[in-house]
Amino acid sequence: MLDLAIIGGGPAGLTAGLYATRGGLKNVTMFEKGFPGGQITQSSEIENYPGQKEVVTGMDLMQDWPEQCSAFGLKHEMNEVTKITKSNDIFTLTLIDGTSQEAKAVIIATGSVPKRANVKGEDTYFGKGVSTCATCDGFFYKGKEVAVLGGGDTAIEEAVYLSKICSKVHVIHRRDTFRAAPNTIEHMEKANNIELILNSGVDEIIGDTSGMTGMKIKNNDTGDISNLDVPGVFVFVGRDVLNETLKQEDGSFICNMNDFGEVIVDLSMKTSVPGLFAAGDIRIEAPKQVVCAAGDGATAALSAIAYLG
Ligand code: FAD
Ligand code: NAP
Repeated sequence: MLDLAIIGGGPAGLTAGLYATRGGLKNVTMFEKGFPGGQITQSSEIENYPGQKEVVTGMDLMQDWPEQCSAFGLKHEMNEVTKITKSNDIFTLTLIDGTSQEAKAVIIATGSVPKRANVKGEDTYFGKGVSTCATCDGFFYKGKEVAVLGGGDTAIEEAVYLSKICSKVHVIHRRDTFRAAPNTIEHMEKANNIELILNSGVDEIIGDTSGMTGMKIKNNDTGDISNLDVPGVFVFVGRDVLNETLKQEDGSFICNMNDFGEVIVDLSMKTSVPGLFAAGDIRIEAPKQVVCAAGDGATAALSAIAYLG
């Protein structure tokens, strides 16, 4: 049986692993369904991680974290956890490969995934023009025009990134003011090949057998529809937390959640279930920053050490 199971290998899970093992726990496994690093590995640049003076890609930032953890004894299993249950003070993790694993304490750090805009054609052309990762797919549009949907930090940062690869980037936003940070908007304003389509949404993504060829754009003020001929659109309309693992047979959650499906924790990252801790983007009021997720992971690990006595 594990002393501690950590679910998710993003900044929160990896930092929890570092603090738990360095803090003396012997039998700690981090379950990560893909490669460790988390969603920041999809970011083209990060410039707000303390101590990191140079602007680096998310992949570069996270590169050494797993090795640092394994040096202190963190075990990493590439496996997806599908369910967590608790009985007689012991947690059971059900894994996608059909096996299970018992643990005395659990830290859930499964983060979040991109939301879909739910527009006509989005599913049909997903992976054939519609993308949620500029770092992954931007290069396919070198020298071409593309569109970005959204007005948050991700949309604007990634629009700036794409503007360096593509001939023109059309940013489509449903309002005329942006949610993105002022510094990020300044970067966008400096780019001379970003065009704004404000107070507008995507009515339909259109294409043919080869993939997406364009979009119908609807002006929210006038209701007018216009065509935008682009082979690619990057959809950055927010993220949904990944909380499926916490669902029980009867559809309820193992611990208390808020209306957005985020885990309710106290300042020690304790959930309503003794021995279950949550860290990073999955918890209530998460600032959704790498540094905060890492801080949560450290706090959760220290709380788990105290719980295990
Ligand atoms: P995540 O990073 O989402 O990691 C969760 C991990 O859990 C993932 O690796 C996932 O594969 C794994 N997982 C999920 N479910 C399971 C399961 N059932 N079993 C096993 N493994 C599972 N923050 C900043 O501070 N600065 C930035 O500049 C910045 N830029 C960003 C740019 C982009 C494009 C994006 C998407 C985010 C950006 N963020 C930025 C936000 C930052 O990446 C997140 O706040 C942070 O990664 C959250 O960390 P986390 O560990 O909570 O979750
Ligand atoms: P976000 O902040 O939730 O922004 C989502 C954007 O998409 C908003 O502009 C929203 O419009 C728009 N939108 C939502 N649903 C839509 C729909 N169906 N159709 C069209 N537009 C829609 O999401 P995010 O940008 O992915 O950021 C997530 C979190 O990560 C944030 O907390 C962010 O600060 C953080 N993050 C930080 C950095 C950084 O620190 N540099 C970088 C990236 C992300 P409205 O504005 O009208 O609501």
